[in-house]
Amino acid sequence: MSAIGIVSSCSCLHPAVWLLKPGMHKMSSFGLHTAARCAAKDYYEVLVLGGGTGGIAMSARMKRKVGAGNVAVVEPSKTHYYQPLWTLVGGGAKQLATSARSTESVVPKGVEWIKSRVTALDPDKNCVWLENDIKISYKYLIIALGISLQYEKIKGLPEGFDHPKIGSNYSVHTVEKTWKAIQEFKEGNAIFTFPNTPVKCAGAPQKIMYLSEAYWRKTGKHSKANIMFNTSLGVIFGVKKYADALLEIIKERNITVNYKYNLVEVRADKQEAVFENLNKPGVTEVHQYEMLHVTPPMGPPDVLINSPVSDGSGWVDVDKETLQHKKYSNVFGIGDCTNLPTSKTAAAVAAQSGVLDQTISLVMKNQLPAKKVNEMGIFSIAVRWIYILPTSNRLQQGDSSRI
Ligand SMILES: Cc1cc2nc3c(=O)[nH]c(=O)nc-3n(C[C@H](O)[C@H](O)[C@H](O)COP(=O)(O)OP(=O)(O)OC[C@H]3O[C@@H](n4cnc5c(N)ncnc54)[C@H](O)[C@@H]3O)c2cc1C
Repeated sequence: MSAIGIVSSCSCLHPAVWLLKPGMHKMSSFGLHTAARCAAKDYYEVLVLGGGTGGIAMSARMKRKVGAGNVAVVEPSKTHYYQPLWTLVGGGAKQLATSARSTESVVPKGVEWIKSRVTALDPDKNCVWLENDIKISYKYLIIALGISLQYEKIKGLPEGFDHPKIGSNYSVHTVEKTWKAIQEFKEGNAIFTFPNTPVKCAGAPQKIMYLSEAYWRKTGKHSKANIMFNTSLGVIFGVKKYADALLEIIKERNITVNYKYNLVEVRADKQEAVFENLNKPGVTEVHQYEMLHVTPPMGPPDVLINSPVSDGSGWVDVDKETLQHKKYSNVFGIGDCTNLPTSKTAAAVAAQSGVLDQTISLVMKNQLPAKKVNEMGIFSIAVRWIYILPTSNRLQQGDSSRI
């Protein structure tokens, strides 16, 4: 792996490698583009957008197909996190540092890391734009940009996280606050939320609640805790068999579930959380808290909203059996940023990566990716869907990530 893209001077490279958007050449000749960054090459056979779970998995697979130096991954962050571990970090069982690796160490050898952010996609011209007006062209494009956290859609956040007694396992900045709030809990309401949007790992909002409950039981605080799961959904889980089992645990552990309650505001200075009752739109209720765990609203990354590769909601519009883009045959999507009807989880990504590998193999041989490319791969996605999805995607067909 070699990291490229963050160099302060372009003198090392041929000017043709950093192309400016139409109309910008003139500015450049006047020397106004001093901040422009360089990429080592302006074309890759396979370009991967996003170096998270799906992006790194596909980079490794693609390098095996097209060889070293022909694959690049665009990823702005210098640290790669194994997010599933954050449930245990928030629950006090793991240190945050154990979930982190340098991006440099996880990008496969022979794959180039372009340390930058994608700012626009132009699939009609087989190119993307990065920060500082860098253009990169490709033969095949894999989009693995994940899902965007939208704390700011809740009034009072993210600044409310400056106060104690509030945490969120979903962000590297707030996950340790969860464990602190669990430990400092004395007596009163402990509220765990679930938003009114698709989410990644829809089980995580409940997992931290059960871990908290177990900790308070162990430390003798259980009788002083009024544990509440305030969810915007109408069910605890989408598969009845598991919902029934969870409801038994909830009863046994004396947890209250408030369905159709959506967190809209946090007044962290007063330890108040404001919920909208989705059964009565516009009607809000204020809940005092001694601890609050926030699962934020989520949505497609900004760069995908109104992009030519996205559906009307902003998710990458792919065929659910092949992961090939519905319009652009050399574009593919994987993971949380797509409109696949699977859960948005790393486990789903693992299954998807095998299917996508086979789809791309066929496309590279100029063959059509058959709908049943690989019974095992497709079956695998279905199995993950059943086992991993915590709740109601089956109730809301086509929007599985809402559980
Ligand atoms: C608290 C928590 C618990 C979880 N628990 C589980 C679990 O138990 N089991 C499970 O299977 N899954 C779990 N997950 C979900 C899992 O981590 C994700 O579903 C998985 O990481 C999705 O992979 P992805 O590649 O689609 O997105 P990500 O891994 O999120 O990667 C997206 C990447 O795109 C990059 N990116 C974003 N915008 C741009 C841009 N404009 N340009 C370039 N790069 C960009 C980001 O920096 C990021 O590196 C959990 C997640 C969390 C937060």
